[in-house]
Parts: sequence; structure tokens; C-alpha cells
Amino acid sequence: MSTSHVIIGDGIAGASAAETIREADPDASVTVITDEGEALYNRILIKEFAKGKLPEAPISIHEPEWYDERDIDLQLNTHVTDIEPVAHEIHTHKGETYEYDKLLIATGGTPAQLPVENSDADGIHHFWTFEDARGIREHAEESDQGIIVGAGLLGIDLAAVCAAQGIDAKYLMRGDRWWRYALSADGAEIIHDALRENGVEPVFDSGVDHFTVDDDGHVSGAVDPNGEAFDGEWAGVAIGLNFNTEFLDGAGIEEDDGIVVDEYMQTNVEDIYAAGDLTQFYDTILNARAQNGAWGSAKEQGSVAGKNMVEDAEAKEFRWVSSYSITHFDFPFLSFGHPARGDDEAEAKYSDSEWRRLAFENGQLIGGVLIGDLSQQSKYKKLIREERQVADQKELLLEKDVDLEEVKANTAPPAE
Ligand SMILES: Cc1cc2nc3c(=O)[nH]c(=O)nc-3n(C[C@H](O)[C@H](O)[C@H](O)COP(=O)(O)OP(=O)(O)OC[C@H]3O[C@@H](n4cnc5c(N)ncnc54)[C@H](O)[C@@H]3O)c2cc1C
Repeated sequence: MSTSHVIIGDGIAGASAAETIREADPDASVTVITDEGEALYNRILIKEFAKGKLPEAPISIHEPEWYDERDIDLQLNTHVTDIEPVAHEIHTHKGETYEYDKLLIATGGTPAQLPVENSDADGIHHFWTFEDARGIREHAEESDQGIIVGAGLLGIDLAAVCAAQGIDAKYLMRGDRWWRYALSADGAEIIHDALRENGVEPVFDSGVDHFTVDDDGHVSGAVDPNGEAFDGEWAGVAIGLNFNTEFLDGAGIEEDDGIVVDEYMQTNVEDIYAAGDLTQFYDTILNARAQNGAWGSAKEQGSVAGKNMVEDAEAKEFRWVSSYSITHFDFPFLSFGHPARGDDEAEAKYSDSEWRRLAFENGQLIGGVLIGDLSQQSKYKKLIREERQVADQKELLLEKDVDLEEVKANTAPPAE
């Protein structure tokens, strides 16, 4: 009898698990279920589509034929409503039941709505799916003024859409800078200048108290908590994700702002794995629980889960230094590892458009942000992977050209 693998979600985590499973076990039955109407596409590139810079075609990664050729049963437009771990079954909104030997949950998240008046008005956009990008593009093309909310990595994509579409935009931020969890005032200022140059005005210590709407219920502006009003017939909101786990209610799977898994992507329930953005995984580099919201990390988690589902529950562990780049400006930007956590930090500014910040936890380098010059990234990632105690080497680490051998000569390798 062949083993039956069911994967919920055809994002990069689910699709990469399906591919790994098929390669490792040509006889297995593999089913991928997604509630989207299209097979895997490049979620990173939908921002270029929304900007009007890319047509639809290059964004698709897999056509349905890709699944047919590999004898993978792809179910589109199918929402999983609940799972029964004891019976090893899942149910869909169409009333179908799928039995599994091994189950992967790779359902990612859905953008959170602002808990304010009129936050669901027409013209207020959230950004996660290709369908969202189509709506954003269509509406952006005919808008003159816009409002952006959410001072993080997705919010800045919405700002870039405004810039590319010629929308005069106000970017409302709650604190005194963009991505305050990972950037200091010096680093953020480089981003603020770039936003201004692109026609997007950052507004600090602001936010949204409520949106205003016209007679047709279409957004017409936002009023911030200070009472200041901003006009805009287009608004983009990116204040974080709610993980898609409602269908797990009562299934006994441990959750803690996501699904808790070990380094093998196993949940606490036998034969059920999870991968991608929605996991709280055991990070073997930090030796602590962590979360990543990045394409490369989700892909690797899917592949690790797939391998362990086929071969042995603990055949491969997830060990990964994540990275996330922004390509909207005329200088490069990269965040790596876990830049928004840590108990110690170091930073340096090298010019008006070049800056670095490093984050440390328990003496280890765990992440950072590079603006302007990314050339040192592989050295930093190597130090992270090697779990070296380098927090007392800040001066050497912030040299323009880091001498890795010198850093290493001053530190002991981690204990086995
Ligand atoms: C605009 C944008 C730009 C980004 N830019 C970058 C970038 O530059 N670099 C980077 O590293 N990352 C970027 N990301 C993040 C990256 O795309 C995600 O980290 C990654 O796609 C997560 O993959 P996933 O497979 O875990 O989840 P998802 O891609 O969210 O896939 C989950 C899938 O499961 C489906 N699903 C959910 N619930 C159910 C259910 N009950 N039944 C059936 N199906 C269900 C969902 O519809 C979805 O298709 C960006 C994301 C967006 C939206």
C-alpha cells in the first residue's frame, strides 16, 4: 500500500513539500489542497505586478500541468474546514473527506484588518494574494492620493506601489520611524529620505483612528489619533498576519501565535507536520523557539517537512539563516536572521545611504540589517551558523570589510 500524504496550502512551503515527497517516494499518493484559485505563484513578485511593472505570466511558478506530470492531485478553490487527527481525516467546505497517513499544514496567514471604523470600506487594500495584487493595481492606476498604514516590510511594498503608480501618498506610522523593531533613527532616516524622493511622505506618531468614506461607501481618507485628517481614495494596510489555523480548533495541535513544531517540523500530534510562515519552530541556531516570515525559509521548511514525512520523522532538521531584501530604491536593503530580537546590538553609519545594524542574543550574532552595501552578508551569516560568541567583537564586526579570520581568532567555536 502506498503512503497517503495530504498537504493543506499550495504556497511555497506546501508546494516544496509536495515536490520533495514526490522525489523521495515515487509511489506515494500526494494531494495538495488550496483555497486559492491558482496554483503556486511567486508571492514576492506580486508587488511588481501591482506596481504595473510586470505582466501576470512570469509570476506563476507552477501551472496545473506541473502537478499532473508528477501525479500530484491538486485541488484548487477548496477550503479545509476541520481535521480529525484520530481518524486521520480532513474535511473541506465541499463536504469531501480526505484520509491521510501524513498531513502537512502549510496554510500561512491572512492580513489583519485595522480594528477601526470603516476599515473594510471599498478602496482599502490588504496585500497577500495575487487577487489582492490585481485589485491593488486596478484601483491604484486610477487614484491620485493614497494612505499607507503599517511600518514594516509589507507596508513599504504598498508605499512602493504608490510611488510606481504616481499616487501622492501619506505613510502613517505609529512611532517615530519605519520598522522601529529593527532599525535605529539613523538607519530609518535613509529609508524615509528614499520614500520622500519617491513621492511618499512619512507621517510619524500617527496611525489611524478611523477611515472616512464617501456616499458610496468608498474610502475618502483617514483621521489619525491626533485628529489630523488625510485625504485618499486608495489605502493600503499591512499591520501583520493572522495565521490560518481556525480549522484546527479542537484538533489538539499546540499553538502559540502560530503552530508549534520542533526542528523536524513535527507538531505535537502524531503524523501531523507544519511548515512555512505559520510555524513557531525550534531554531537550532538560537536554541530557542523562533518564527520567520520569508520565502526562502518557508521553502526550506516545506522541503524538510516533506523529507521527514517520507523517510523518517527525524531524517532532516531545519537549520536556516533567513534573508529578506527590498529592491524598491536605488540602494540595496537586506535584513537577515532575526534582526528584530536580541539583548544587545551594534550599528554604524558609513555614508548617507550606507548603514548596518547587528543584533546579538546570549553573546551570539543572530541577525541584522544592511543598507547600501550587502557585500558582508555571507560573513555575518557564516558567524550566525557557527553560533560563535562574537558580541564582544563589535568593532571588528562593523569594519567596512570584516576580517572573518580575525573575528574568529578572538572567539571560541561553539561547544559541540
Ligand atoms: C507582497 C508580498 C511581498 C513579499 N516579499 C517578500 C520578499 O521580498 N522576501 C521574502 O523572503 N518574503 C517575502 N514575502 C513573504 C513570503 O511571500 C512568505 O513568507 C511566503 O510566501 C510564505 O509561504 P507559505 O507557504 O508559508 O504561506 P502562503 O504563501 O501564505 O501560502 C499558504 C496557502 O494556504 C492557503 N490556505 C490557507 N488556509 C487554507 C485552508 N483552510 N484550506 C486550504 N488552503 C488554505 C492560502 O490561501 C495560501 O495559498 C512577501 C509577501 C507578500 C504578500
